Amino acid sequence: MTTSFESLGLAAPLLKALATEGYTVPTPIQLQAIPHVMTGHDLQGIAQTGTGKTAAFALPILHRLMAQNRAPAPKSCRVLVLAPTRELASQIADSFRAYGRDTKLRTTVMFGGVPKPRQSRAIAGGIDILVATPGRLLDHLNDRAVRLDLTEILVLDEADHMLDLGFIVPIRKIAAMLPAKRQTLFFSATMPKEIGELAGKLLHNPVHVAVAPVATTVERVEQQVIFVDTARKRNLLTDILHNDKQMAGNTGRILVFTRTKHGADRVVKHLEQVGVQADAIHGNKSQPQRERALAAFRSGQVKVLVATDIAARGIDVDGVTHVINFDLPNVPESYVHRIGRTARAGATGVAISFCDAQERAFLRDIEKLIRTKVPVMPSPARAA
Ligand code: AMP
Repeated sequence: MTTSFESLGLAAPLLKALATEGYTVPTPIQLQAIPHVMTGHDLQGIAQTGTGKTAAFALPILHRLMAQNRAPAPKSCRVLVLAPTRELASQIADSFRAYGRDTKLRTTVMFGGVPKPRQSRAIAGGIDILVATPGRLLDHLNDRAVRLDLTEILVLDEADHMLDLGFIVPIRKIAAMLPAKRQTLFFSATMPKEIGELAGKLLHNPVHVAVAPVATTVERVEQQVIFVDTARKRNLLTDILHNDKQMAGNTGRILVFTRTKHGADRVVKHLEQVGVQADAIHGNKSQPQRERALAAFRSGQVKVLVATDIAARGIDVDGVTHVINFDLPNVPESYVHRIGRTARAGATGVAISFCDAQERAFLRDIEKLIRTKVPVMPSPARAA
């Protein structure tokens, strides 16, 4: 299964940087985009900020630059990234620097509102990666401080935002200065008609990738968090399954997430001991075992399926009424992915998260990503 950054085949210095960043699991957009970008395809991606899209293009680009190592010519860049705002441009440049910290590749950034000379000096000898806002880049191009005829890769980020800011004409002008034979990556949160047309002009046979917008998934799911000691999580789970009024009469399916495979097995064992039909699905299970577990879950024979994030990616089951996060994920995007397993096809669903003392920081990251506070529920009283 292609599940880790290692198995995506990224170069060792990049893997080292990812370990330093604390990223262990690629996000969905990264899993979808990295293999195609690494092999040189054009890509059209629908993804919002918060999905990990910056790394989805920065990592394979760094990988490619390393694989075909050559010095950039004076005043030129091997990669040009266009972003709508100075904040986004700076963030993207910071990401390239962070992921490329163990490589010799260099990044610079150009945006308006600050003097030009330092920016043109930074590219005078050539630079591997240039991140720029379109207006300021055009200034530098007019000054002949920058040339784009040797650029190998173009990235357009937040294209719909570019449209709102009136950058479509500058982008067309800039694109006309790039070699026709290049790799182009195009990201937008939405695809209005004009953006679709622009993508059509810039891209050549693109691969299409898309991840669910964070907001729409999150809005449809009723979310709750329960603060609980690690040791009490198992009892809390059985309490909820047995006592919660909503659960007691519940005929739907319940998906329980754990962070580790062993954790999943332990939860299944505990549930079986207390008389709840459950099965686990994770990376240590054989394909026939997984298929059996899924079939039993689909048919309703097994009411509770316990899964790890990776294994859950392939699960496409309707009628999941509850998602229980036995452990909170350390990748905030996984939370959105998990709770999106309920509330499919316009239905509503409930997501209950257990949060112990060590997971408070994960909860904070999740709330930052979904831009809402998850309501706190008191721990239900224990059954007599
Ligand atoms: P972005 O959508 O590119 O703005 O990224 C959103 C946030 O997720 C950033 O703070 C990244 O540092 C973080 N991030 C990106 N990829 C991963 C990953 N695979 N694991 C953990 N965090 C990540």
